This record gives sequence, structure tokens and C-alpha cells, in this order.
Amino acid sequence: MSQIIHRNLRRPPPLAVGAAGITVRDQQGNSYLDASGGAAVSSLGHAHPEVLAAMHAQIDKLAYAHTAFFSCEAAEELAARLANDAPGDLDHVYLVSGGSEAMEAALKLARQYFVEGEQPQRGVFIARRQSYHGNTLGALAVGGNEWRRRPFEPLLMDVPRVAPCYAYRDRLPGQSIDDYTAALLRELEQCILATGPEQVIGFVAETVVGATAGAVPPTPGYFRGVRKLCDQYGMLLIADEVMCGMGRTGTLYAFEQENVLPDLVVLGKGLGAGYQPIGAVLAREHIVKRLRDGSGAFQHGHTYMGHPVAAAAALAVQKVIQRDNLLGAVTARGATMRRLLRDAFGAHPHVGDIRGRGLLLGLELVRERGAKTPFDPALKLHAAVKEQAMARGLMIYPMGGTIDGRHGDHILLAPPFIATEAE
Ligand code: PLP
Repeated sequence: MSQIIHRNLRRPPPLAVGAAGITVRDQQGNSYLDASGGAAVSSLGHAHPEVLAAMHAQIDKLAYAHTAFFSCEAAEELAARLANDAPGDLDHVYLVSGGSEAMEAALKLARQYFVEGEQPQRGVFIARRQSYHGNTLGALAVGGNEWRRRPFEPLLMDVPRVAPCYAYRDRLPGQSIDDYTAALLRELEQCILATGPEQVIGFVAETVVGATAGAVPPTPGYFRGVRKLCDQYGMLLIADEVMCGMGRTGTLYAFEQENVLPDLVVLGKGLGAGYQPIGAVLAREHIVKRLRDGSGAFQHGHTYMGHPVAAAAALAVQKVIQRDNLLGAVTARGATMRRLLRDAFGAHPHVGDIRGRGLLLGLELVRERGAKTPFDPALKLHAAVKEQAMARGLMIYPMGGTIDGRHGDHILLAPPFIATEAE
């Protein structure tokens, strides 16, 4: 009997004892092919020698220094690199310990921006129905995953919600992609107007939706339309790239493929690639300038922010991605994988859609293909699929559909960027 409060309290998971490349081994001697990078985390696979060496060197030099007293070289170098590689004036970096923490920091940074800009009445975020932004209370409040939210509703701030950009499910028969996109943008504008534009802090969205919908990229022009509305109503655009950022879609940031510049970008997962817990917020110059010229400080902070070893690991990860042209590998392997998935499952009666971008791929499971009927959520098909895959030595990341059964179960695939064609 384990003392750990595991995700499943009735059935503890297998005990991992080792991992290398794209394979994880358990205590029983079983091997698992990591086709999901955990949950789209392990972009360099496991035991990458250069990342391990950078962590060892950092531990020997400086394992920890509290940020109320010191900065450290690794954090400074990581921030400089992220700022340099990010487009536009996304020149500032706030380092935390994971995706949810980064989302909380982004929400507070956005709020403080308006408090110091003499618009303290702005206190509402608008977000989307099918979305996940983390499990801490602020992040959970902006997220739209009903199953995760429901027990904690009384603790969550009110967040007006609009439809996700999910053409496979929501585009009307005969509706063009452009008309569908225009309808989504009209809905967002109506939501802004109904909320009162002067009350709204910003719009929060994943550039490519990850865990709640299974790798759903936006329609062309959707984010450009969102950016325009944000500018028109003086709101901030907060892009959650915890899952889709740091190269996973073939560009360092997924928003680069949408030709928009968000005001704040939320990062996690692939930033440290699982080697250390780390997340970050990228902020544009106008956000930081207002706080610098105003109160002089962001009113936030955590004990482990800017951790030297986490920063050293993330820095090593970024260096390897650039040196080994892994963004190119993501695009190439992604295309191969999508072709193989189409060959294998394109005509499968229970695979409704195969989609994604780069090495963030999704399969939506349906009971009936033509009508796109989802399986009954009570069946918990996703859990059974995961169990069967693990029994066959394969890590994939399946998720249930919506509680109301409108969207189906799906399987997320997000292999390490270093995976070979053969693997
Ligand atoms: N945002 C997105 C899009 C995510 O996929 C996740 C995690 O799955 C988070 C935020 C939360 O990140 P973390 O689990 O590191 O707190």
C-alpha cells in the first residue's frame, strides 16, 4: 500500500525505475514506448546526456539562492535566450515552477497592469469552453474543463466563456471555414460587449488546444481576429502555450504560425522537458514598463522561482533544440506520423478525426463516424484505451469527452522530438 496520494487512489501506477531515449522502464522489467512525452513534456526524451551534465554542473556550483536576495547566472542566461528567441517585444521573462503557476502569474500580471494603468475596474477574464489552463484555483477558473472544475465551483472566479475553435465538431453543415471563424469572432465580440469592455482584463486561450480536445489547431485567421478585438477593446491577449509551445508544433511558439503577438505567453512542460519543474511567463515591454514606472514591482513571488538547477536544465534543453535543428525534426516527424496515423486509422469506424500540428497530434474516438456520435462518457473509454496501451508497452495520453457527451474521447500523441523515423 502506497502512502502517496496518487491520481488514482484505488490503483497506484507502476513504479518507474529508469528511462532513456523514448523508453521508460518499470520495476517489473516492462518497457514503455513514450509516444506522448508523458503529457507532452519530454521533448528531448529521457536521460539526455547534455541536459544531465548541465544540471550536475549547476548543482555543484549553486543549487539554490532565494530570489529575494539574489539572481543567478542560469536564470539570467535562460531569460536572455528566451527573450532573444521570442518575436517582437516579448522581452521579459518571469520564471516559476510549472504551467499552472505560470498561468496564475500571467493572470496577476495582467490584472496589475490595469490596476497601475488607472483602470482598476478591469477585473474579468474571458476564456473558452473547451480549454485547460491548470489546476490551481485561478487557472482552473479560466479553464473550461467541466469535470475538473465541478467540485470546486464555489471557489472559482466568474469567467464568461465563448466557444472553442473546434471546426470538426462545431462547424455547421455547408458553412465555410471563413464563415465559421467569423461566427466565433462575432460570439467573442458579443461576449465582450455583454460583459462591458471596460471591465475586461483579457482573453485567455491555448493557441493549439491540448488535453481537453486533443490537439486542435485554430482555423486560419482566428487568432488575428482575436488580436484585433483585444486591441479594439483595450484588452490583453494571453496565449497559453504550456503544451503547444517550446517547439512542439514545429515553431518555437505556436502563435508564430498565426501571425499574432500575444501580450503574455504562458509556458511550462517542454520548457524544462521534464528534467526539472519549470514554467515561465513571457511579457511584452508595455506590460513590464508600466509596472517598472509605477509601483516598481510585480506583486507576486514563489520560493522556487528562478531556480538555478531548473533554469540550467531549461537552458540546456533550448540549446539542444537549436543546435540539433529539432524544430525541423518536429515538422518532418509530425508529417510522417500523421501520414502513418491516416494509413492505419483513416478508415477506422471509431476514429472520427485525426489532427494536430507538428508533434502534437490527436485522434478523436467516435461511436459512429458519419454522425460523429461520441461514446457515452460513463463508459470511460479513454481510461480503458490507456490501460490497454500500457499493457502493450505504449504510453499515449487519452482524455474523456465533455461531461454532457457533446465532444468525444480522444487520444493525444506527443512523442519526443528526438524520436527517429523507425521509432
Ligand atoms: N496549460 C495547459 C495548456 C496545459 O496543458 C497544462 C497542463 O497540462 C497546464 C496549463 C498546467 O500545467 P502544469 O500541469 O505544469 O501545472
